[in-house]
Amino acid sequence: MINTDSFNTSIITNSRKAVRQNIKFVRKQLAEGVILSAVVKGNAYGHGIEQIVPMFEAEGINHISVFSAYEAYRVCAVKKAETTVLIMGWMEDEQIEWAIQQDVHFYVFEMGRLAAAVRYAKQLKKVAKIHIEIETGMNRTGFETKYLDEVIQTLQEQKQYLSFEGLCTHYAGAESITNYLRVDDQIKTYKSILKSFQSKGCEPKLKHTACSAAAISYPETQMDMVRIGILLYGYWPSRETFIYHQRSNGFGKEGDKRKISDPLKRVISWKSKIMSVKEVPMGEFIGYGTSYQAPKKVKVAAIPVGYAYGFARSLSNQGRVIVNGKRVAVIGTVNMNLMIVNVTECKQVKKGDEVTIIGGNGKVVVSVASFGEMSNQLNYELLSRLPMDIPRRISD
Ligand SMILES: *Cc1c(COP(=O)(O)O)cnc(C)c1O
Repeated sequence: MINTDSFNTSIITNSRKAVRQNIKFVRKQLAEGVILSAVVKGNAYGHGIEQIVPMFEAEGINHISVFSAYEAYRVCAVKKAETTVLIMGWMEDEQIEWAIQQDVHFYVFEMGRLAAAVRYAKQLKKVAKIHIEIETGMNRTGFETKYLDEVIQTLQEQKQYLSFEGLCTHYAGAESITNYLRVDDQIKTYKSILKSFQSKGCEPKLKHTACSAAAISYPETQMDMVRIGILLYGYWPSRETFIYHQRSNGFGKEGDKRKISDPLKRVISWKSKIMSVKEVPMGEFIGYGTSYQAPKKVKVAAIPVGYAYGFARSLSNQGRVIVNGKRVAVIGTVNMNLMIVNVTECKQVKKGDEVTIIGGNGKVVVSVASFGEMSNQLNYELLSRLPMDIPRRISD
């Protein structure tokens, strides 16, 4: 049989050691007893659900959050029996039947889904494990105040069929101080709605609101459980969150001589190979159009990774990769299937040499973040757009 892995133009490797280190770091930030739910939406932020879930479980994680029923289905195919799965977003009402059968927990943020949960639970003679998402100011999904009386009434009347597992919400930008007032308002709104549930004898098993940025910058949002994604993969939600965390640990104070170092470790490394090398005379344009003109004689290498393979076109003339231990620049526009890099400074570079697109050897590193400070959301976007069909490996 042909090993089709070598047909692919690049390969992704996930590091166990990095996962272990990031989980340890996150646990250190959590108050005692707080449950850590690992978020694996977006194909585990591009790392691969099937590879990442068992790696998380091996480090003691037993709660996994996803966006859709499809992702939950994929998690269920590889997880341990005792691991809880929570769908935070999309499912057809019909998929509630499957979720109840599998004991998969799910968010409920509108009356139709609440009614469907009761209906299927009755049919199956089984309890639906639901988390009520409330509107606190993000204005995405979540029950608005006017529905809450009816929600509470349904929870009480259908106790036999509905288990009130959680009361939850999501913050609209906890990674930036410019959103402080909005987030602070959301915390207050959450607390007041929680009180009104409690005053009617409706107590959720878990109160949960925090993503990575909230758990770090607003510790009071940790409550009973946190839903952490980006930190587990070794990235900060934003530069601001990183600096805030370092400063609150005393870094940068008068007399503090410690070197600022990143306690997180990137899990992913993404590698390809050089497909050809050539020299281009001074003054020639390289690639499509005229976005890059050789300022002198340059040596360029073609790499078989383009925007169709998850390397964003916005990294044209911007991105960096590592060739033979040197960081080199992407020149010209990123094409659908390949990009061109400037290897003038790399001696002895040849076809077949390894190219690191994300990752590094310790000394020289390229991370998604180092592609630039174009946007806070860049890490999330580039990682989660890594195609599913790039082969994924695990290293120690
Ligand atoms: C994505 C997401 C999270 C996790 O966010 P990170 O910033 O990656 O920690 C938590 N909760 C909800 C509802 C989400 O959509």
